Amino acid sequence: MNGRLKRYKLVIAIGIGFLFGLLIGYAFMVGIPSAEQRAPYIAWFKAIGDIFVRLVKMIIPVIIFFTIASAVASIRNAKVLGKILVWILVIYIITSIIGATWGLIGGLVFKPGAGVNLTPPSDYTAPTPMKGPEILLSFFKSDFSQLLTAKGAMTMIIFAILFGVAVTLVGDRGRKIADGLKLISDILIKIVRIIMWYAPIALFGYGVWLMATYGPKILGAYGKFLGADYLMTFIHFFLVYSIVVLLGGLSPLKFFKEQAEPFIIAYSTRSSAVNLPFNMAAAKRMGVPDEVFGITVPIGATVNMDGTALYQVMSALFIAQLFNIHLGPSAYGLLIFSALVGSVATAAIPSGGTIMLAFVLSVVGLPLEGIAIMMAVDPIADALRTAVNASGDNACSVLITRLIGMKLRKGPVTEEAEL
Ligand code: ASP
Repeated sequence: MNGRLKRYKLVIAIGIGFLFGLLIGYAFMVGIPSAEQRAPYIAWFKAIGDIFVRLVKMIIPVIIFFTIASAVASIRNAKVLGKILVWILVIYIITSIIGATWGLIGGLVFKPGAGVNLTPPSDYTAPTPMKGPEILLSFFKSDFSQLLTAKGAMTMIIFAILFGVAVTLVGDRGRKIADGLKLISDILIKIVRIIMWYAPIALFGYGVWLMATYGPKILGAYGKFLGADYLMTFIHFFLVYSIVVLLGGLSPLKFFKEQAEPFIIAYSTRSSAVNLPFNMAAAKRMGVPDEVFGITVPIGATVNMDGTALYQVMSALFIAQLFNIHLGPSAYGLLIFSALVGSVATAAIPSGGTIMLAFVLSVVGLPLEGIAIMMAVDPIADALRTAVNASGDNACSVLITRLIGMKLRKGPVTEEAEL
């Protein structure tokens, strides 16, 4: 099979599965007009998709540990590691603030919530949001078993970095362990690739569920929000990442070409964590050195979410407009800052950003009922923001390569060398 076609085989299968699902979902809507009568059937289709998400969630903590620990252990030079970590902090913060600012501009210019009258479902109970110090402490779990959950991802990153550093500190005796970590991380990535072959079926299930559950609403009242959200997110994607990769010395055309596959996988799976192996393979094709993307991409998948920051600010404005709450300019700065923190704390799983929206809303004092309202459009909004979250990790990896004084590798990557 032609090489390119082979690479896109999975993406095409996912696309067909999803479209077919939407079609069957539409047939359900027409065939069983009552949403209540449809619901028991549709629940089965959602379960088909949920199986996939569960398989993936199962493997996320181990992938985070092994990819990061093996990348850190492979760096013999502590200075390089230090530089990468410092630049990660700087670049990820800057791009996320830019993302959040697009959200602010979009919300103020398009006013998607003005004139839309939505009421939250009666059975909805708002989650209790975390406060400042609580958010900070939530990054540091004390119980190891919590590291194995999506919420413990940040602590898992810290543990993985410490582990990798310690492996290098024991000197030659650590060599075997470093090789072992690399081997296991390659095997885990293969497991994700195997699980991904179930994705077209899962997406079929989600397609049916999405259309049969939200179809009419999404086309109507929420359309304006989604339109504004998609427009601003695409502006961030094309404009900001072109500049970022240009600064890193890579042609934007090459970036967008190589990023196409992980973009679509992230779009359809709605999880930066699931997309991790695909994003790393793309970073490699862009020429980012292994020791750089081995650290920047897995950490980025967990903490760097420009699309989510953008969405959280725009949703907050949307909710304020829906409830006719006036937010002054002083609230705007707070909104951007809270979305920066909120996006870092967001788990790289479907709808993680909407759950964390509770924090952003509470910081600026907006009603938490907004979460229920956003949940209705989340499957669609989440898809694009996840794709952009993942793309941001790779764009930043290109730039970080240059900033730490390394060069992008030129020339094609052999099939063998692909992850
Ligand atoms: N689904 C997103 C991701 O994995 C997180 C979010 O919901 O914003 O990147």
